[in-house]
Order: sequence, then structure tokens, then C-alpha cells
Amino acid sequence: MLGRRVTLAASAARSLSTVRTFATAAPVSSTSPSHKVVVIGGGTAGLAISHQLLRSGKFAQNDIAVIDPALWHHYQPGWTLVGGGLKTREELRQPLHGLIDPKIKFYNESVGAFAPEENYITLANENKVSYEHLVVAPGITVDFGTIKGLTEALEAPDSGVSSIYTYDTCAKVFPTIEKLQKGTAIFSQPAGVIKCAGAPQKIMWLALDHWKRAGLYDPSNPAGSPIHISFATGLPTMFGVPKYSAKLEELRKERAVEGLFQHDLVAIEGNTATFARPDGKEKVTKQFDFLHAVPKMGPPAFVKNSALANEAGYVNVDDATTRHKKYANVWSAGDASSLPTSKTTAAITAEAPVLVRNLLQSMEGKELDATYDGYTSCPLLTEYGKVLLAEFKYGGEPKETFGNWFGIDQANPRREFYYLKKHFFPWVYYQSMVKGTWAGTKGWLN
Ligand SMILES: Cc1cc2nc3c(=O)[nH]c(=O)nc-3n(C[C@H](O)[C@H](O)[C@H](O)COP(=O)(O)OP(=O)(O)OC[C@H]3O[C@@H](n4cnc5c(N)ncnc54)[C@H](O)[C@@H]3O)c2cc1C
Repeated sequence: MLGRRVTLAASAARSLSTVRTFATAAPVSSTSPSHKVVVIGGGTAGLAISHQLLRSGKFAQNDIAVIDPALWHHYQPGWTLVGGGLKTREELRQPLHGLIDPKIKFYNESVGAFAPEENYITLANENKVSYEHLVVAPGITVDFGTIKGLTEALEAPDSGVSSIYTYDTCAKVFPTIEKLQKGTAIFSQPAGVIKCAGAPQKIMWLALDHWKRAGLYDPSNPAGSPIHISFATGLPTMFGVPKYSAKLEELRKERAVEGLFQHDLVAIEGNTATFARPDGKEKVTKQFDFLHAVPKMGPPAFVKNSALANEAGYVNVDDATTRHKKYANVWSAGDASSLPTSKTTAAITAEAPVLVRNLLQSMEGKELDATYDGYTSCPLLTEYGKVLLAEFKYGGEPKETFGNWFGIDQANPRREFYYLKKHFFPWVYYQSMVKGTWAGTKGWLN
């Protein structure tokens, strides 16, 4: 039973009086469809949640609907492996339609607007769909426009500029790494929230290892090496969790990578990158021969501009229950949610069972009794064959699976974790997670 696998905590119970109560959904008009649960987004969170709901056995044909305009579903964590020349982007995607159980109604459409007071959403084609419960999981938007000149530089085949952050751009990364024989390589990370905050440096560690093996970079003699490597991050440290940040900073120094902290890439012109500095400090410009760029990301406009959003534009849900703070029949998990944790697939393995349990409890008029503790994970590739497996919860507190089982310190990169990242996670994702049978560290769901 799904319910038995999630963390049950009476302290997480939230009384219905703290949020707005709602009426049973009626169709907006006699011709508009209505569902018990409408899930916006057929990405990682949307697929895991809709299929976990279905597997509860409490829903009939078309009781659950998924709405998503995409033709393809992508295993995005694999794009780092594509950038490192370890996988192809094609092997990491599947047609979205084929991943949705036939008992679930699939609208291959985009959602344009919410009407949470009336319990319906409006599609981009103007049709309305009513719901009893709404799950909002449309992910976040990768906005290349936040860096002047980036879109053009990515499109130019010989620019030396690439990014693992989208399907369209990730195929250019490894050929660009291979092509560099000498000069300055810069890897950027923006200030602010992004998907998988470790990915901008994962691709750097792989590139460094590639150049080292090719005899183009010697960490013990950086000045005498043909390639010079810089990590330019808008953040003040290597990583948000002190324990892992300390280890990564140690690696950075050991490997003689220049650290440009609080350097936020804002523009690219030819081979010049411009970085904004905090507190009105002068902008800094750097010449590059290779640039791996990561732009700013944020909530999709239709969420940001809606009544569901918090001040930052994310779906405003309770940190523990995943239920909306104002609308009791609205839920959110994944990147679009306000859950204050690192935005990862790993986080969704823990969020989805909590959301599903609480939504089912709510449907039956019972108290919400499942709690999300902020669990998330980041398998940090530190070279070919090794991964530092960061696992932590709210407050940046480590919550290590293998540390607990085998007394391993997960801050030390290991070969076993590399196999998890390269082989096991992509496999279990399509084999189980999108089908609603994988809860990460809690194992398989029935
Ligand atoms: C380069 C990279 C590396 C990563 N590495 C890791 C890693 O190592 N480990 C890890 O755990 N995570 C990693 N992640 C993060 C992980 O992929 C995301 O956190 C996860 O996919 C988020 O799931 P989601 O369902 O919230 O959003 P998504 O999976 O992005 O899905 C959102 C869905 O919503 C749909 N949608 C958008 N707008 C609308 C609309 N208006 N109406 C209806 N549907 C809409 C989209 O088409 C999409 O299908 C990485 C991500 C990237 C890009």
C-alpha cells in the first residue's frame, strides 16, 4: 500500500480551517469535461503523481487527467551525461503519449490560466476543464534570454558556447569540449534558483577530466597547461550545503580551477563574457575560448501571474504537506512548487508519495498525515568514474542513505555512486518512477 510507505506524522496534520474549503467540482458548462484530479504537466512530477494516484485503486477510467503540450518526455538528469559524451540525448527521451496509462485522460494541450475559486483551468485553445483536485507540476522555464547574446552564441556552430540545460542545446557540449585544444574554458552558474544546482559544475569536472586524459590539462602545472579552467558562479560558494561545498572547494583548489565567486554571467559578445557583481561592484569581463553557460530559470508565466503563486512566482504550497496554502484542493510538487529545497528528480521521489497520500486523505475528508522533510539529492560527477552523492533535507542538513547503511561518508567521491548515476537512475526512472512505482530511498511502491 502506498500509504504505508510514506512518512506518517500526526504533527503534519493541517486543519482544513487554515485553507479555503471548496465545493465539489461541477463542469463549467454542460460541454466542458470534469475530472476528479487534473494534473498539469506530464514531466517527472506529473507522471509520478498521476500514476501513483491511479495505483491507489480509487479512480475509474478518466477520473484522472494529465495535461501537457509536449510530444516527448525527457530524462533531464541524463543531459549531463550527454555533455560528457557518455549517452545520446535520443536514448533519454520517450514519446510522452506512450508513458501515460490508458486509464488516464491525456490532453496534449497547454494550460493557459487558472480559476481556483471556480475549480477549473483554461487551456491555451480556450477550452475549460473542471476538477475536484488540481495538481500543478509544469516545471520551471530555462530562460536563455536572461543572458544577452547567449541564444545567438548557442546557435552558432563554431562559437565555443554550449549548455547541457535543454534537449536542443546539450548535443553541442561534448563536441565543443573535444574541439578545445588550448585557451580559456569558463563554466558558469547563475545566481538564483536553477534545476539541479550541481549540474553546472558536474559538466566542468567531466570536461577537466577529459582534457587531463588528453594531455591538455595538468592540475599540478596549470600555468604550463594549454587549457586554463575557471568556474564563474553567481553564488558565494561551490554548493549550497556546507558539508559538500567544503569537499568541492577542496577539489577545486587541488585541481587548480580558478574560482570566480559572485560572478553572474549577464552577456556574451564574441569571445567576451560579462559578469555582474553584487553590491554595485564594477562588472567584470573575461575572454574565453570555451564557455559552458547556464542561464537563469524561473516559474512559468502562467503560474507566476496566477492567484496560486507566492511572491517568487512558485505555486504556494505548505512545506510539509504540499497542499496549497490558500486553496485546499490545489497541490504542487516538483520544480514549479514553492517547496524550499533543491529542484531535482530525487526530491520528487520523496515529494510525490507525500502529495498523493495527503490528496487521497483529503478526498476522504481525513486529516493530512504525510510529511515531506525536504529530501533531495545531487549525484555530483567529479570525474569519469566517480560521483560525490550529496543527499540532504530542509536546512541543508545531510540525510545520507549509504552513510546510514554502511557508514560511508558520501562527501567522498566513489565509483559505486557513478554506476548509480550513469546506469541505475536512468533505468529505474523509465522502468518505475514514471509508472508510479518508485519512491527513491524508500524503494519500490506496490
Ligand atoms: C541538465 C540537468 C541536469 C539535472 N540533473 C539532475 C540530477 O542529477 N538529479 C536529479 O535528481 N535531478 C536533476 N535534474 C533536475 C530534474 O530533471 C528536474 O528537477 C525534474 O525534471 C523536475 O520535474 P518537474 O515535473 O517539476 O518538471 P519537468 O520534468 O520539467 O516537467 C514539466 C512538464 O510540464 C509541462 N508544461 C510546461 N508548461 C505547461 C503548460 N502551460 N501546460 C501544461 N503542461 C506544461 C512541460 O511540457 C513538461 O513536460 C537535472 C535537470 C537538468 C536540466
